[in-house]
Amino acid sequence: MRILRIGFFFILTATAVAASAQSSETLPFTLKPLGHGVYAAIDDAKGDAGANAGFVIGDNGVLVVDTFENERAARALLSEIRKLTPLPIRFVVNTHYHLDHVAGNRIFQDAGAVVIAHRNVGAWIHTENLKFFGKNIKPEQKAEVEALGAPDIFYDDALTLRLGSREIAVTHLLGHTGGDSVVRIEDAKVTFWGDLFWRKTLPNLIDATTADWSKTLSTDGPWLKRFEGTEVPGHGDVGTIEDVREFGGYLNDLREIVKTVEEQKKSGDELVAAVLPEIAKKYGKWEFFEYFAKPNIKDMDAELRGTKRKPGDPQR
Ligand SMILES: [Zn+2]
Repeated sequence: MRILRIGFFFILTATAVAASAQSSETLPFTLKPLGHGVYAAIDDAKGDAGANAGFVIGDNGVLVVDTFENERAARALLSEIRKLTPLPIRFVVNTHYHLDHVAGNRIFQDAGAVVIAHRNVGAWIHTENLKFFGKNIKPEQKAEVEALGAPDIFYDDALTLRLGSREIAVTHLLGHTGGDSVVRIEDAKVTFWGDLFWRKTLPNLIDATTADWSKTLSTDGPWLKRFEGTEVPGHGDVGTIEDVREFGGYLNDLREIVKTVEEQKKSGDELVAAVLPEIAKKYGKWEFFEYFAKPNIKDMDAELRGTKRKPGDPQR
């Protein structure tokens, strides 16, 4: 999360330095058993893994969801899996293309897994990730993005994977980037939402279309009912469907407040200054408020005015 959190100009080398200063014994995430061989790997408080991940141990193999922001964290996840089962790692699902969810792909590809993602992850992984380093991206950072392990298999709408008798449903849902997947393990009633759900955490809206996202998380829509159980967010701790609903409420509240201030003919810094205290009332204690509140307001303002850039659009 470091990269996406710190205003898109954080450098990978700083992550590497922080990681190497750590004891090799310390995991950059907390492993949480969720029952039925399903585990969530929740990023530590310092953000050493960059995002959450997880895995499912099936009858004849393992499926991993996301691969963190750096290879060190991915290697640590692989070795935790190896302590639990000798079964092969068959599949990795990337929930979206952002660097903090795909940077360890090669570790699992080298271990024999095929990486599966929505078609747009393939289109964007080596291009759209460059923007998180800003305009003065260094050559080695560009090379690092271009060397990311791209998915091997793409799907468009929905996909069912099997680990022996166990079924895992992968569904493309809109809102966060336009290339997001939700992974549901029905027999365990566990859902990995990727970054379509941030638990008590402000989201990154840089690529978002919140109008679609609010439909995905609508309390009247099909998904919250279908995915009820244990909810694993892309950032923040494991939660409940009530937490997912609360997160959807944040997007709706942000939209309403920004819309109201736009109607007062405010724009730019004046609009941000008027909206900020309003969202702080309810969400000021959420994680990443200080990093994402202002960009969230600007992104929502741009979306409502129809000027927002989407992934795949020309760079500005
Ligand atoms: Zn993320």
